[in-house]
Amino acid sequence: MSYFEDDYGTDMEAIETLRRDADLEQAAMEREGNRLAALRRRGICTHGSVVGYVGKVIYPEQEGLKPGQSRCTEGTNGCKRVFNSDEEWVAAMEAL
Ligand SMILES: [Zn+2]
Repeated sequence: MSYFEDDYGTDMEAIETLRRDADLEQAAMEREGNRLAALRRRGICTHGSVVGYVGKVIYPEQEGLKPGQSRCTEGTNGCKRVFNSDEEWVAAMEAL
């Protein structure tokens, strides 16, 4: 095997690895999307969207929020849960 072929083979391997990683990532994202969709079908709020405190009320859901807080507004049946920080919101989504 010449030096060129060897190098080429390594490049192809690297490309294959990247491609496989991208596929795995795509599959993981699809699985996560399907999982969340299944939860929503069962009436479980996945807290996919929130409105945060911005110092004034633009959306009715912002009424009563304190600095740093946000409220779930997902879909038409969002749970309206108030999160005290972004960390709390993220933790709630990760706990689903
Ligand atoms: Zn929610």
